[in-house]
Amino acid sequence: MSDAIRFEDQVVIVTGAGGGLGRAHALLFAKHGAKVVVNDLGGSTHGEGANASAADKVVAEIRAAGGQAVANHDSVTDGGKIVQCALDSFGRIDVVVNNAGILRDKSFHKMEDTDWDLVYKVHVEGAYKVTRAAWEHLRDQQYGRVIFTASTSGIYGNFGQSNYGMAKLGLYGLTRTLAIEGRKNNVLVNAIAPTGGTRMTEGLIPPQVFEQLKPELVSPLVVYLGSDQCKDTGGLYEVGGGWVGKVRWERSLGAGFDPKAGFSPEDVAASWQQIGDFAGAVHPDDNVTALREMMANLQKHAG
Ligand code: NAD
Repeated sequence: MSDAIRFEDQVVIVTGAGGGLGRAHALLFAKHGAKVVVNDLGGSTHGEGANASAADKVVAEIRAAGGQAVANHDSVTDGGKIVQCALDSFGRIDVVVNNAGILRDKSFHKMEDTDWDLVYKVHVEGAYKVTRAAWEHLRDQQYGRVIFTASTSGIYGNFGQSNYGMAKLGLYGLTRTLAIEGRKNNVLVNAIAPTGGTRMTEGLIPPQVFEQLKPELVSPLVVYLGSDQCKDTGGLYEVGGGWVGKVRWERSLGAGFDPKAGFSPEDVAASWQQIGDFAGAVHPDDNVTALREMMANLQKHAG
């Protein structure tokens, strides 16, 4: 049995916590003793409108259960205000859960600039603004945990979600670099790709499965990643329906050509099977190990 995970004296920001997954994360953090900033603009799934009651209701729920929370109604694109709210209310900030999100699904040939831009703004710019504003506080205190919310639509692609997939895998790119930059200051950064029955997925997931994919079944992973027990950074975890798994890159050993002699498109064609053969595949975890096979090829043909 592991030690209890507690957040006494710690402050957690959960963006988009007025409903769905964010609400479940906020409730669980509060249950484990955290002071929670419940952020939510309260707009529609398509990113239109605003309504303070979403965040207020979750704060009332947390307080009714004996926990501590404040509501914040700013857009994540005003991330500085959300972080300021945490500092004004509780005097510090320890954990940032970037969860707020919208959908503007359209097949690519129908995609309009507003759909592309709005999805980028909420998911990527919003997560950037909140995390950027919190970053110096986390660095200065030599402690922080940041969680980004990616998606299987970014990892694997999904029809009608070019804007969303771009944004969601972009957040994993951000995770990887912030993990490297944050490590020496004990600021650990991970990403999740959740699946949950929320208003975002209602009508997309068959009703009997939707019912089983309770948002509460995503939050234990998020709370663990947000805790001091978690020592991992730069990870990407798929989670939902009571299941959690880790995702990593895999790359074939590839095919090498003589760099001095050059090689032709026909050489590529002739080696196509070998290029895509995953027997003995490697799993590079950083830029240096990712270059190993390329450097070995240079060395092989040196001299
Ligand atoms: P949801 O619509 O229930 O929750 C999203 C919340 O974000 C809403 O309460 C909304 O008001 C808030 N929000 C939207 N724009 C905001 C802004 N600019 N500022 C502040 N708050 C804003 O959907 P959900 O399913 O709970 O989604 C939560 C996160 O998980 C999203 O990032 C979503 O993309 C991601 N996700 C969800 C699933 C799933 O299966 N539900 C799958 C993959 C990824």
